[in-house]
Formats: sequence, structure tokens, C-alpha cells
Amino acid sequence: MAFKTEAIVLRARPYYGPDRIYDILTPREGKLSVIARSAARTSSKLAGHLQPFAHVRLMIGRGRQDHAAGVATIHGFQELRASVSNFFLASSLVELVLRCNVPGAAAAHEFLLLSKALRVVADSERQKEKVLAVRIFLWKLLSLSGWHPNIEQCARCRKPLTGTVHWYEDLQGFICSDHASGSVALPNEFLPFLGHVLIGEDWQALMLEAEERRISKEWFEVSQRFYQDVISEPIVSLKMLAYV
Ligand SMILES: [Zn+2]
Repeated sequence: MAFKTEAIVLRARPYYGPDRIYDILTPREGKLSVIARSAARTSSKLAGHLQPFAHVRLMIGRGRQDHAAGVATIHGFQELRASVSNFFLASSLVELVLRCNVPGAAAAHEFLLLSKALRVVADSERQKEKVLAVRIFLWKLLSLSGWHPNIEQCARCRKPLTGTVHWYEDLQGFICSDHASGSVALPNEFLPFLGHVLIGEDWQALMLEAEERRISKEWFEVSQRFYQDVISEPIVSLKMLAYV
């Protein structure tokens, strides 16, 4: 049995002999691992299309292990492999996808998010915008994975968090000023902004809002802490997100 699907190539791994395994993201089944026979050979047509971050149309043969039976490029995203900084940002998007477990029912949404983020990194002329897109992607993906932060109520006393300075406390979440301790202090416009990031679909508007509100430093700090709380280990590529 075989089926056709769109896919974004996440990474390639060695397999037996000249074969490779490709981890891909598909809109129907989420992440899949498929074998590409002889892909390590220089003459491989499959490997030519299955470049990192490429958006492709794949024919997948189902068996004991899924295998790539044919491939065509929809959008090669050469821009993402043409500069070190683009490659690094695109790799951090892929790293997030590989580490997060999005439920199957949300696979189409995950696919759309990754396509959107890759497109901003590839097409934008401003480094700052690219970095903001990666950060928007981080929050949306964690939320889709079931880690939607509570931005309405204090994590300790359940008081509403509206209109006051609030804090982020590691392993707890957002807390009100009543128990402010050694965590990150956040201006009162922070949570409304984060709310927009979590549900907003217009990425250009979100990036503009992030720049206008001048909360980049706090947003970076909270992004890093929230990610570490969820995944339990620091992400190397998140360091990159600081430079805006
Ligand atoms: Zn409280």
C-alpha cells in the first residue's frame, strides 16, 4: 500500500549501508520516519529532493517500515541552507518539532505553523523579524502540545492577573505580585501580548506588536524558562533568540 502526502523534511539519519532514515512532518499524520533506499549515494534522486527544511510531495510505501517511493519538490527553501544564520534558526524550529509531541488531531495545525515560520525565516529581510517568528512558533507549538500556559490566573492563589505587574516563577508559571520573589518581573502589558501570540494568526501583526511593546528581553527570558520547565532541559538554539 502506498499513499501521497505533503511533507517538510526535518532531518536525515544514517541507516544500514547506503540507506537513510528521514524524519518528516506531514499534515495528516504528524511526524513520520521513512527509509530512503540508497539515499547516501551521490546519484540518489530522492536525496536531492529531501534536503533539510524542504517542502515536498512524497509517495510513501507502507510496510514494516515506511519508505519513500517517490518525491517531488514543492518549495526547496534553498534560502534556509544558504546562510549560517538562517540555517541555525530553521534548525531550532526543527529541534522544537522533534522534541514536542503534538496530538495527531492537531497535525495539520502543526504543519501549517512550521511552514509559516520557515517562510518568515526564509523570506524576511530583517534578522529581528526572523528571531521573533521563531519565538512565536515556540509558544504556539508548546500550546499545541498541551502546554498552554495559564495567563488568566495566578498559579499560586488563583487571583486574576489583570492589570498589575506579575511574575514568572520557574516550574509554577505566572504569579501575582503578592508573592513576588526571585523570578522574572513582567510589565502589565506582557500577558495580554502573550495572549495574542497564543491565539493570533497574523504573524506580521504579532511581530510588529512585539517590537512596539518593547518587551523583547522579558519575552526572551520567559520563553527560555517556560521551555525548560516543559521540556526539562535547556535548548541550545534558544540562546540564539536573545539577539534581538
Ligand atoms: Zn497570587
